[in-house]
Amino acid sequence: MRIIRVFSRRNSYTPTDDYAFYGMPPLAELIPEHDEVHISCVFSWDKAEAEELAYQWEGRTNKPVKLGGPAFGSPSEDFVQGMYIKPNIIFTTRGCNNACPWCIVPKLEGPLKELPVCQGNVIQDNNFLQASRVHKNKVFEMLRTQRGICFKGGLEVDLIDSHFINAVTGLRIKELWLACDTDGDLPRAVKAIGNLKKAGFSRDKIKCYALIGDDMDRNEARLREIYHAGAMPFAQLYREFTDTKTKYPPEWNAFQRMWQRPAATKAHMERGTMFQEYGT
Ligand code: SF4
Repeated sequence: MRIIRVFSRRNSYTPTDDYAFYGMPPLAELIPEHDEVHISCVFSWDKAEAEELAYQWEGRTNKPVKLGGPAFGSPSEDFVQGMYIKPNIIFTTRGCNNACPWCIVPKLEGPLKELPVCQGNVIQDNNFLQASRVHKNKVFEMLRTQRGICFKGGLEVDLIDSHFINAVTGLRIKELWLACDTDGDLPRAVKAIGNLKKAGFSRDKIKCYALIGDDMDRNEARLREIYHAGAMPFAQLYREFTDTKTKYPPEWNAFQRMWQRPAATKAHMERGTMFQEYGT
C-alpha cells in the first residue's frame, strides 16, 4: 500500500522519502499516486494543527485521510520501519512494565513487548533494558554491523548491568542516553555512569535525560550531580498530555535551554555559580 505520511514540521526524526510531506498539501500534481494519507501527530498540543492538516489534505485527495499518532492515542503495538520515523531509527520493543506517573508510554503501549529486530543504528525503545537477555543479544548482534549507534530512548539506570556494558563496549557507540528523572534515581544513575566510565565511555557519549519543572534549586543540584558523575545532562520540562502545551515562566525556559546545550552546560559548570545567581 502506498501511504503518504504528513507531519506538521520536519525534524531530525521525520522521514524524508517521496511519500513524506510537511504541513499543508502542495498542488495536486506534486502529490504522488497513493492509497491513503496518514496525518501523524506526536505531541498532544499539536492536535488542533493536525486536525487542520487532515481537513486540508481531504480537500486535495479522494483517498482516505487518517489522523493518528501518539497524541491521538493510536495503538503502537508493533513497528513499521521507516513509516513515521527515519528508517535508521528503530523500535525493538514497545511498552514498559513501569508506571512512572509523568509518562504516557504504559498507558498507550501497555507492558513491554519484544518485536522482531530490524536493521538500524538508533534504538528508540522506551525501556530497552526491560527486554529479555535473548532479545537484547539479538539487538547487539544486529548492531555489530552498525556505526554511530545511539541508545536514545532513555536507559533505566538500575538495569544497566555488566551484560549491557560488556555488549556495548564492543560496539561502535556514539551515544548512550540514560534517564534520571527524579532525585531518588540519582544514586543509581551515579553508579551506572561510573560503571560506564570504567568501561571507557566519556561524557561525550554518556547523555542523561532529566525531568525538571518543579523546584529549580533541586533540579539544578540533580543536573550538576549527573554532570559531576561523568554524563552530559539533558533537561526536559515536564509537559502534561493535554491539548495545550504546559506553560512555564521565561526563567524556566532559559534554565532548560542552558541544560540542553552541552557548550552552555559546560560553561555554566566551569563558572561554578547557581543558575539564578547570574540571571536568565
Ligand atoms: S521507565 Fe521510562 S518508559 Fe517506563 S514508565 Fe517510566 S518514564 Fe515511561
